[in-house]
Amino acid sequence: MPQPQFLRKAFGPFVVAPNKEEHVQPFGSAIALMLMASWALKHDIVDVYYAVHSNDAVFHDNHASYFEALHTVTVECEGDEYGVTFHTPYLSINKCAVIQKGMGLGVPFGDTWSCALGGTVHCGVCDPCRDRRTSFEILGIKDPVLYEHDIFAESREEVNILESPKHISVVA
Ligand SMILES: [Zn+2]
Repeated sequence: MPQPQFLRKAFGPFVVAPNKEEHVQPFGSAIALMLMASWALKHDIVDVYYAVHSNDAVFHDNHASYFEALHTVTVECEGDEYGVTFHTPYLSINKCAVIQKGMGLGVPFGDTWSCALGGTVHCGVCDPCRDRRTSFEILGIKDPVLYEHDIFAESREEVNILESPKHISVVA
């Protein structure tokens, strides 16, 4: 049985994948973020940071208005004092810029995870994997993680990279 994807949709609007619906959990993001808010309030935390970036904004549940609405839900549930604010400091920059920030901070990218499908290695075909691979490719940096499928070696013609890193488009 496929595991529901709470924080990301495994296959977004750019990818035609078999059993796509099985990998998308309706309201999954809201469920996960409300669980996070609940845990935060139990620990006297009202500021939650969520690392979505502008490439993720193809989904409505990654828009700034969505995070404001979630804040409103927490205020309506628990009162003003316990309203949880969801900070999204990378929402205005794309994956390339996030990687560049990470480079500047010395992030060990080999220890980071992007794949929406879980497993022991990145699948290489879900939206987050394609986004990650494409962004590293644009920057001319070798991505140190292992991929089950190499989209560049297996189907280079399926990946359409526009000139500007701000407009990454991955098409299957
Ligand atoms: Zn993946």
